[in-house]
Amino acid sequence: SPDHKITIYEKSAEIGGLLSSYHREGYAIEKFYHHFFSGDTHFLHLLEELGLKEKILWLNGSTGTYQNGRIYPLTTPLEILRYPHLTIADKFRLALFTKKITSYDPEQLDTISAEKFLTGQLGERIYRSFFRPLLNSKFGQNADTISAAWVVSRVAIRSDRGTGGERLGYLERGFSSFIDRLSEKIRQYGGEIRTNTPVLQLSREEQGWLVNGEPYDGVIATIAPALLRACGPDIPDIPYQGAACLTMGLSRPVTRGIYWINLYDDAPYGAVIGHTCFAPRAWYGEDIVYLASYYNTAPAPDLQELMIRDFCRKFSIQRDEITWAALTTDPCAGPLYQAGYKERLRTVTVPGLILAGMFSEENYPERSIEGSVRAGLRAADEITRRQERTGVME
Ligand SMILES: Cc1cc2nc3c(=O)[nH]c(=O)nc-3n(C[C@H](O)[C@H](O)[C@H](O)COP(=O)(O)OP(=O)(O)OC[C@H]3O[C@@H](n4cnc5c(N)ncnc54)[C@H](O)[C@@H]3O)c2cc1C
Repeated sequence: SPDHKITIYEKSAEIGGLLSSYHREGYAIEKFYHHFFSGDTHFLHLLEELGLKEKILWLNGSTGTYQNGRIYPLTTPLEILRYPHLTIADKFRLALFTKKITSYDPEQLDTISAEKFLTGQLGERIYRSFFRPLLNSKFGQNADTISAAWVVSRVAIRSDRGTGGERLGYLERGFSSFIDRLSEKIRQYGGEIRTNTPVLQLSREEQGWLVNGEPYDGVIATIAPALLRACGPDIPDIPYQGAACLTMGLSRPVTRGIYWINLYDDAPYGAVIGHTCFAPRAWYGEDIVYLASYYNTAPAPDLQELMIRDFCRKFSIQRDEITWAALTTDPCAGPLYQAGYKERLRTVTVPGLILAGMFSEENYPERSIEGSVRAGLRAADEITRRQERTGVME
């Protein structure tokens, strides 16, 4: 709002965080694959406010799995029927489960593990052969501890399907226009964006806060509790996991036209994302593929090489067909939504500090761009209310 003077501290050279992009010659591409959903109403409204409504595209996200050395497309009803690793009865049970998914209240399922819940609902075989590999690619060694609340909301959000695949939102030529437009707007309203400026010290004073020694009336924090704690505030921890994402330019398509392939075979990545089977290849002049993985302990120093070697072998690619490759890792890529997460979340507060990071209420039971926008709106509202109450911000 133009009524407040705001300063954004960003430790990296550019803003955007997980949603930032590589700027290649002629195009920009997100460092971590992103799309949005039709229910992301606050984000869609923000796009409109920023004059980006015309850039919203609804595209088909096709899916498949890679298992026992083969790609299985799983988008159309016929492909699902032909899939040999589940019986007809299993597929029927899965379809029924998906149909009634919105009747579950995620909060009621928070303390139950996905393993216990799904085994109870669908049986051991469907859990082991279908859900476990998915959870594994998303949470690694923590797969069995993840809350049923996360799974239920995840399946529900991903049920906007037609016969061509899931309907997913993307911005024409990527999200970098969103980040650019947002920064322009912040500056237009008199806000200051300080890149390459990490917050190193944050302390509460009688009349407000000191950030790296500079006084402010109020502070909104959007970083992980562990990072915040390193700046001074005594905040209980909440476990996060890291993400590693390799982006590659390729001279030909390699995913058999599929956008999203979950790896069920052992690999140093959990999913292969054929970005140009989703967004038009013409924007890039080459194929773009992501190899994605999540981690809990520091990733191998030669992870990029390990990923490329495995990918070339599994997908029959010659090295010289890869035109460029870049790996980005982020140790705080999202909270670990383990059983009991919600209860734990209630303890994660710092008096007087407004928290709007990926662990905030709005990002339960899964963090998202929409969750961050909603957390931002709540934070702005809280600042306004505090000011109305006391005349100054606490
Ligand atoms: C692989 C992957 C895929 C995803 N796909 C989707 C998707 O398809 N759709 C979707 O809705 N969501 C997706 N998400 C989630 C989405 O990216 C996040 O929910 C959202 O971007 C979080 O935004 P944020 O600003 O809260 O946090 P972040 O993007 O993490 O931003 C935090 C910022 O704080 C900065 N920072 C850290 N420490 C300091 C410090 N001490 N001082 C100053 N600055 C600091 C960081 O550099 C960063 O810029 C995905 C996430 C990942 C990892």
